[in-house]
Amino acid sequence: MKNRLFTIAFSLFLSGSLMAQQGGRIGSHDAVSWKPVTVPTNSFASPNEGRNIGQQIIDVVGLSPNFEIREANVPNAAAVTYNGKRYVLYNPNFINQLERSTGTRWAGISVLAHEIGHHLNGHTITASGSQPALELQADEFSGFVLRKMGASLADAQAAMKTIASSTASATHPARYDRLTSIADGWNKADAQITGRPYVKSNPAPRPVEPVASTPQRRQATTSVLGRVRFNADPSTAYYVTNSYNLVRVRNNQAAVIGKLTASNNRRYPYIISDNSTQLYVDAYGNILNTSGRSVGKLTPGA
Ligand SMILES: [Zn+2]
Repeated sequence: MKNRLFTIAFSLFLSGSLMAQQGGRIGSHDAVSWKPVTVPTNSFASPNEGRNIGQQIIDVVGLSPNFEIREANVPNAAAVTYNGKRYVLYNPNFINQLERSTGTRWAGISVLAHEIGHHLNGHTITASGSQPALELQADEFSGFVLRKMGASLADAQAAMKTIASSTASATHPARYDRLTSIADGWNKADAQITGRPYVKSNPAPRPVEPVASTPQRRQATTSVLGRVRFNADPSTAYYVTNSYNLVRVRNNQAAVIGKLTASNNRRYPYIISDNSTQLYVDAYGNILNTSGRSVGKLTPGA
C-alpha cells in the first residue's frame, strides 16, 4: 500500500505543478515512444531485483548510494529529486520490453546505470530539465559500470541503439554522441581492467587557430582542413579551407559561402556562419542549428 501511494505521488508530481515547488527530474527520457504492453514478468519486474541491480552498480564504483531505486509510473526511467531526496525511478514494463527488443538483460541494467550516473555525478535540476552535456556524462558512467560488471561494448550500447534519437535535441544529444560516450566509459573501465592504454574513441577535431583580426598575408595556396556534409544537400562537396572559409564546390566552381570560427563554448567549440545563419559544431564534428537539430557533419582532414 505504501508503495502504491508513493507511485501515485510520483505520477502526480511528474505531471503537475508540484514539480517546481518540491522537486524535479534531472533526466527526462521521454524520447521513446513507449506503448504499454503486457509482457511476461522476468526478474526485473520485482522491485527487489531493481534494487539489487542498483546495489551491484554502486558496488562497482565503490561509492555510497545517495538515492533510492523505486518502481514508478514513469514513461521509462528517470533520475529525480523529491522533497530533497534523490530517486531513480523505472517502469518495469519499459525495462522488460527493452530487454525483449534488444535481446539482452544488459539493456535494462544500462538504463538504471545511466540514471544512477546522474545522481552519483551530482547532477542537479535546472528549469530546462535534461541537458546534453549531463546526458553524455551519465552515458559514459553507464558504459564504465557495464564494462566493470562484465558486459561487452555491444551489450553496453544495446539500449541506446534502440531508444536514442538519431538527431540531437535541445535536451538530448544525438544517438551517435551517446554511443560514443558509452564507448568512452566502457573503454576507460576496460583500460583499468586489462592495463591497455585508454584511447578516446572519437578524438575531437583538431583545434582551430584563432582567426587573426589584422589583415592576413595572402597565402599562396589554399588547402583543405576538413570536409563538410550537409544533410539537406548531401551530394554537394563543402570544404573548410586553411583560411577557415567554408567553400562550396559545384560544377568545378568553388565559392566561399561562410566562415568557421572558434567559440569559447566547450560543448560547441566551433561556429559556422554566413551573413544570416549561425550553425554550431560540437566536439565530434556534428553540425547543429540554433534549435539543436543536427544538420550536417564536419570531418577533419582533406
Ligand atoms: Zn539522463
